[in-house]
Amino acid sequence: MSSLFDVTIIGAGPVGLYTAFYSGLRALKTKVIDAEPDVGGKIRYFYPDKNIHDVGGIAEITGAELVQNFKMQAETFEPEFVLGKRVTSLIKQQDEIFLLKTEDGELHYSKTVIIACGSGTYEVNPLIAENAALHHAKTHYHLRDLEQFRGKKVVVSGGGDAAIDAAFTLLPIAKTVDLIYRGENFKGYEKRASDLLTSKIQVHLQHEITALNEGSELETVTVCAKASGEESTLSCEALFISHGVEVDFSFTKNWGLHTADWGIQVNPFMQTNLPGVYACGDAAAYSRKIRIISAGLHEGAIAVNSAKQYLDPDAANEAMVSTHHDHFTN
Ligand SMILES: Cc1cc2nc3c(=O)[nH]c(=O)nc-3n(C[C@H](O)[C@H](O)[C@H](O)COP(=O)(O)OP(=O)(O)OC[C@H]3O[C@@H](n4cnc5c(N)ncnc54)[C@H](O)[C@@H]3O)c2cc1C
Repeated sequence: MSSLFDVTIIGAGPVGLYTAFYSGLRALKTKVIDAEPDVGGKIRYFYPDKNIHDVGGIAEITGAELVQNFKMQAETFEPEFVLGKRVTSLIKQQDEIFLLKTEDGELHYSKTVIIACGSGTYEVNPLIAENAALHHAKTHYHLRDLEQFRGKKVVVSGGGDAAIDAAFTLLPIAKTVDLIYRGENFKGYEKRASDLLTSKIQVHLQHEITALNEGSELETVTVCAKASGEESTLSCEALFISHGVEVDFSFTKNWGLHTADWGIQVNPFMQTNLPGVYACGDAAAYSRKIRIISAGLHEGAIAVNSAKQYLDPDAANEAMVSTHHDHFTN
């Protein structure tokens, strides 16, 4: 049997990372598992380059910087990280130990489980167009490395806030930005959409990309006008696709958890209906729940304290504050 952990946290988003840190403060042997190849959850996935202003005590920070800080803090007590592995099953064995299985069949054993899985796992909707597979390396779904777009003719496809945001983010970096959307009007905030009209972004409403050029270098895309079916060619050296994501939260039901309001039902101790299993962050649901980073951090600490007392009923209600904690004072 692979080694047994006191706590296994499913999800290495901001809340999972802070929960791992707090679990260390309580001297619990901790493992963190995430389906994504890197930590950071929604911040890394959706808005690493955005400025965040509403995390307590931090007036302004980019998503990427905040993730870096969470990661550094989480590493304080050296939890084990298992990345790029989606947890697909969670069962309590007869010996009361939880057995977690990841997609690839790997087994993980834990005395308690804290679910910090956010809204679940994500899968981007891919571009469906002729020759799309030929140019997958030049077709981007995330703006994690803006340098890839520097000086290039970029075509953005999509009509939501994320597509419009991407077009504006790319404008000062790219040589040109064309924004293609098959709808009549953009779905994003009206103000943002109207800003497009006065910007240098070339907007093509009621058009869609039907093909990428043949050959190894991406040079053009074919776009088709929806009304007339007329095709035209646009210069394109890099593509950014924002066609939405498929979110999967269904696994939580398969694990026997009670769900409601886009989350797992928890009581004030962050306990789920399964003894020994807790939830926090965006994954947790209760009355007046706020789905922001700061709120999730407090829930993570409560979940750890509950797990600690599940393992040791005589344990204190909470960890020693960091200013007086042995780890930092000795
Ligand atoms: C566009 C956007 C902008 C936002 N702006 C702000 C803001 O300015 N301020 C703010 O406070 N909040 C903001 N939020 C909300 C904030 O991002 C979330 O509240 C926060 O990320 C929740 O953290 P979390 O760790 O609970 O979940 P997440 O960040 O969703 O992380 C969950 C992690 O769990 C993993 N996971 C899920 N299922 C599994 C599984 N079965 N197995 C393994 N791993 C799994 C996922 O891969 C993911 O990494 C924003 C959200 C979005 C989408």
